[in-house]
Amino acid sequence: MAKIAVLERKCTGCGACVKACPFGAIDMTGAHPEMNAACCVCGLCVKACPEQAIVKLETRTAEVDKSKWQGILVYAEVSGGRLHPVSLELIGKARELAAPLGYAVNAVILGSSILQYAEELRHYGVSEIYMYDDPALSYFRADVYAGCVEAAIRSMHPSVVLVGATSLGRSLAPRLSTRFHTGLTADCTQLELRENTDLVQIRPAFGGNIMAQIITPHTRPQFATVRYKVMDAPARSDAPGGIILPQSIPQAALASHAELVETRQVPPSASISDADILVVGGRGLKKEADLEMIRHLAHLLGGDWATTRPLVEKGWNSNDRQIGLSGRTVRPRLILCFGISGAIQFTSCMKGSDHIIAVNQDPNAPIFDIAEIAIVDDLYTVLPNLIARLEGQP
Ligand SMILES: Cc1cc2nc3c(=O)[nH]c(=O)nc-3n(C[C@H](O)[C@H](O)[C@H](O)COP(=O)(O)OP(=O)(O)OC[C@H]3O[C@@H](n4cnc5c(N)ncnc54)[C@H](O)[C@@H]3O)c2cc1C
Repeated sequence: MAKIAVLERKCTGCGACVKACPFGAIDMTGAHPEMNAACCVCGLCVKACPEQAIVKLETRTAEVDKSKWQGILVYAEVSGGRLHPVSLELIGKARELAAPLGYAVNAVILGSSILQYAEELRHYGVSEIYMYDDPALSYFRADVYAGCVEAAIRSMHPSVVLVGATSLGRSLAPRLSTRFHTGLTADCTQLELRENTDLVQIRPAFGGNIMAQIITPHTRPQFATVRYKVMDAPARSDAPGGIILPQSIPQAALASHAELVETRQVPPSASISDADILVVGGRGLKKEADLEMIRHLAHLLGGDWATTRPLVEKGWNSNDRQIGLSGRTVRPRLILCFGISGAIQFTSCMKGSDHIIAVNQDPNAPIFDIAEIAIVDDLYTVLPNLIARLEGQP
């Protein structure tokens, strides 16, 4: 980072810098010039000053020795009594990234009585599995979990650490990146690894209007979180590989600031991210009661239902059934979209679906750009007809 500084003992207050600045970035309210927010550090004022009283200061960032940080570490999440499937998706992506650089893909897994999950990881091409298996880890406490994963990272020195963008992962990853004074990019939709080992972390920014490419060139490790259903899980191999390395919890991590007062069991609800078939309604639906047709069609197809964000904003639906950047990412085998325009904030989180069918009155609706079957028609004609056909009516 560079900035402009004024050496007040040399400055005569002549104002030559103010005249030289094309951005109006220098205020001369007192005896000496002051740079305001418009300053882009172009340095024209430095050249214009007859007294050499203005200087450009450069901050140098200490370079990390990247060769000391190698491999990719995946945080394998155990929560709700299962190995979260996002962990396998991350392993799949990690293997793809690691191959050209000859990197190893390792995993760290935490919990209580988790040997079966660690064993399962061995079927997905992981080299080393650091396992912290202890009753103290039976429920998530951010500081204790962070202490364990921090210890694993300090021992392995991975170049990249991948964490699922689940509720647990979103709490854990920032704590870890802070401990290593390094960068974290949340909710990446694509990842690439450069030859120089910089991870290009790609994610939508500015409301999904641009895809930002973010790198962490000066520090290691590089942390990224990725949502469930964004990457592909690798095929399970019958022959287990890799080794499980049991670890003990670092003493420092046990001094937790969190105390478990009570646990309440929330009834498990199916997530739209897990559905094979999804029927989705958008603002083309005129009233809340019409959502019943969407739900009914989903039921007839043996699938689940969801909506776009405007329907959630109207209070017709809850956020956990919203598809999109501020909702869930889905990749069903079949998705049927009724009365949905196809804004990028919606499509970026469902376009990985195997088959997309869209119904919209407007032939130019952007949803048709990604639809395999595009039906230009009134949803109030198509939807009841489809339901009648599936119910066996003539
Ligand atoms: C930061 C940010 C995050 C966002 N996150 C999300 C998100 O997570 N999810 C999300 O969905 N949106 C999100 N949005 C909003 C997004 O930009 C769009 O506004 C939204 O997706 C539009 O929803 P829609 O397609 O249902 O409505 P509209 O864009 O209003 O489209 C309605 C469509 O229905 C068609 N139609 C109308 N009547 C009929 C009929 N009778 N038969 C057939 N077709 C009909 C119209 O031709 C139109 O194309 C976000 C926006 C921002 C800025």
